[in-house]
Amino acid sequence: MLANDSDRSGQLTAGAAALELRNVSVMYPDGHAPLHEVNLCLEPGEIVALLGASGSGKSTLLRAIAGLEPLAAGEIWMRGTRIDQQPVHQRSCGMVFQDGQLFPFRSVGRNIAYGLESQRLTAAERDARVTELLELVGLSGYADRSVQTLSGGQAQRIALARSLAPRPQVLLLDEPLSALDRDLREQLAGQLREVLQATNTTALFVTHDAEEASRVADRTLRIRNRQLAPVAE
Ligand code: ADP
Ligand code: MG
Repeated sequence: MLANDSDRSGQLTAGAAALELRNVSVMYPDGHAPLHEVNLCLEPGEIVALLGASGSGKSTLLRAIAGLEPLAAGEIWMRGTRIDQQPVHQRSCGMVFQDGQLFPFRSVGRNIAYGLESQRLTAAERDARVTELLELVGLSGYADRSVQTLSGGQAQRIALARSLAPRPQVLLLDEPLSALDRDLREQLAGQLREVLQATNTTALFVTHDAEEASRVADRTLRIRNRQLAPVAE
């Protein structure tokens, strides 16, 4: 289903999709085009998983949404605003990667506060937000810890907290659990869904594991033949 006709003046349109891709194509400079006329629509608060063979273009799709890859064609809309011409920092997208990519020389709390530094918050407001996020990911009291003392699972939960801190309109997760061992992955998949639901976050979640996809997401899509197709339950 496509979202309501978005207001092309760039105003916020009531009921508009949280994220909508219209005929999006991406081509690398060498001519390789992993995505061809891709369409996608995420309702506010929806969690969608994205499966696909290695090299099928999953990361490319997330990078295009975040503004890290230019589009060869098509449009990207968020809540009634066209964003595909906007620079990365103006798009309200959070990202979580496979290996967390935490800042090694910042404490846990200062990692989470990173995305809040450009916002006009008092130190007390920022600390309160960090505390709130630590609680959300089940790591209360960790603010002053060095990130180098965290386990793999803890680091991914802090990466999640950091990405959620600025309240992004859409969260993009690129295999965030793939580096963890199986038991932990299953446990964190359930927690990830709880956190996304509790914060009413719209999310696109890449995984190579169909079971993990159904544990985290409301519905699952697969990249096939350079386009997105629904995956039957
Ligand atoms: P996935 O995340 O599904 O494994 P990617 O999106 O990383 O796949 O890559 C999709 C395809 O695009 C692959 O064939 C990959 O080799 C190619 N690709 C990725 N990045 C580049 C690049 N910077 N230049 C050229 N080709 C690239
Ligand atoms: Mg990838």
